[in-house]
Amino acid sequence: PVAEACLYSQTDQVVVLNYDSINSQLINSSNAWVVEFYASWCGYCKQFAPVWKDLASNITEWKPAINLAAIDCAYGRNRISCAHFEVSKYPTMKFFQAYSENGSKGEVLNANSSSNVTNLRQLIIDQLESHVEAWPPACPPLKPASAAELSYFFKTSSNKYLVLVFEEASSYVGREVTMDLLQYENIVVRRVLNSEEALGVTHFPSCYLHSPNRTFCRLIVHVEARTFYVDALRMLPGLERRAYEPSVSPAPEKNTTAEEWREFNRSRVYMADLESSLYYSLRVEVGTHITISGEPLSALKAYITVLVKYFPGRPVVMKLLQSLESRLKSHDDPELQYTALETVLDNEVQTPDAALPDVERWVSCQGSKPCFRGYPCSVWTLFHLLTVQAAHSTYTPAPDPLEVLQAMRGYIKHFFSCGNCAKHFEGMAAESMSQVDSLPNSVLWLWSKHNIVNERLAGDRSEDPKFPKVLWPPPDLCPQCHDELKGKHDWKMDHILEFLKVYFSPDCILQDYLE
Ligand code: FAD
Repeated sequence: PVAEACLYSQTDQVVVLNYDSINSQLINSSNAWVVEFYASWCGYCKQFAPVWKDLASNITEWKPAINLAAIDCAYGRNRISCAHFEVSKYPTMKFFQAYSENGSKGEVLNANSSSNVTNLRQLIIDQLESHVEAWPPACPPLKPASAAELSYFFKTSSNKYLVLVFEEASSYVGREVTMDLLQYENIVVRRVLNSEEALGVTHFPSCYLHSPNRTFCRLIVHVEARTFYVDALRMLPGLERRAYEPSVSPAPEKNTTAEEWREFNRSRVYMADLESSLYYSLRVEVGTHITISGEPLSALKAYITVLVKYFPGRPVVMKLLQSLESRLKSHDDPELQYTALETVLDNEVQTPDAALPDVERWVSCQGSKPCFRGYPCSVWTLFHLLTVQAAHSTYTPAPDPLEVLQAMRGYIKHFFSCGNCAKHFEGMAAESMSQVDSLPNSVLWLWSKHNIVNERLAGDRSEDPKFPKVLWPPPDLCPQCHDELKGKHDWKMDHILEFLKVYFSPDCILQDYLE
């Protein structure tokens, strides 16, 4: 198999971690770490990757004190690491102090996929300052210097230059310049707050250079800002760069390997995708929740219930789902340990006719690269299928039109690990799901909301160029679903419903590639 770089590559300054390396790198390290936990299939993670790369290059000089990394939580055994670090929504950024102990879970950085490089840099500085005992040896002091401290600086220091950045308390410039120059010898940078009035400086920020011979001058720069100060200071005569040997180098994303392409019919649903969806949701997504209680536990029960009722699975799969349902029904405690479900899943795997695949096998949800399509595609497919099955069901009394939609809403809210996708879907559900008053309308509600997402994501970085987002079903799949009214496109709802009922009917699901 060929190694494929999806989100991060060798040219980025991001250290790519995996199951084998994450503990040895983060634990007891002499530098701090900030790690992005992401899933390669998550659209928001794809949008965020350029920001993370820019941040890594922007603070590359800070490396002896802090290293920036990423781990793909969707890949293989990395999933176990992400569960260990208690990450269940992506992207999540966590800070690990220098000399973190084994078992440390890191501190969640108060950032999200819409954070920019400046916010993130400042959050990292805040976290660096939160080190109490084990200050990273390569990290210079970041706290403001007092006038008293400065008065005896040259008496105790052999440094050639003392640089003072005068600034307001809320400014980060002084600390950023300090970090930017940490790899240079013969220079010390300190921030001084505007409250130190005795020093007579009145312009903030401003930068002053002191030499041991007591010469003292203001640094003349075009703009009083970080990069201007740093560029000017690096030109000072006699400044020397320390030899810094990085303990780790940015690694290519080895852990995404291209799978053999499976030929498929683009106008059909495949059971392999549906079973892979069940595998991934039950093993990986639910599996990152060590203890499940309250609303998430109710959501999990509702999810398994609709699967047992409406999933048109092979007998072995249905048996597994029924076992999970019985396990959940017999559970009276307010808290459930995931291991209880894992035991049921593991038991079934040990049968000769394993119920679910032991790894995802995408067919109609294959992407042209490993980071495209896959799991989210299968989630949509699964829930469309369930709404259609409920609408067809022979249950008496007829199912509640909201039953499957509410189960989906709960699953997405509590377990779907693309955090922003979940927020967005919850917004749509809160707005109009309660108005769904019939089973056909529940099928159409989900169809129309999925199309809203398709429209929003058309042309987005997360779109697989080989599978462009279209309003679905396109005319070649269902010509009679489309019409034109007063010069505008018009959907023919009756035809759409009929089309969806056939497209997602059990008889039309292809069983290829099931092993
Ligand atoms: P998908 O959109 O995943 O569709 C899968 C298959 O469903 C298609 O191949 C097609 O056969 C069928 N289909 C397409 N449209 C419809 C329809 N209207 N009705 C019925 N069937 C249809 N990604 C983001 O980047 N941002 C988000 O906010 C976001 N929100 C999401 C919310 C949810 C609940 C889910 C499950 C996923 C979300 N995603 C989001 C992921 C995104 O929607 C796609 O799933 C992902 O980009 C993969 O796209 P795809 O090309 O495989 O097609």
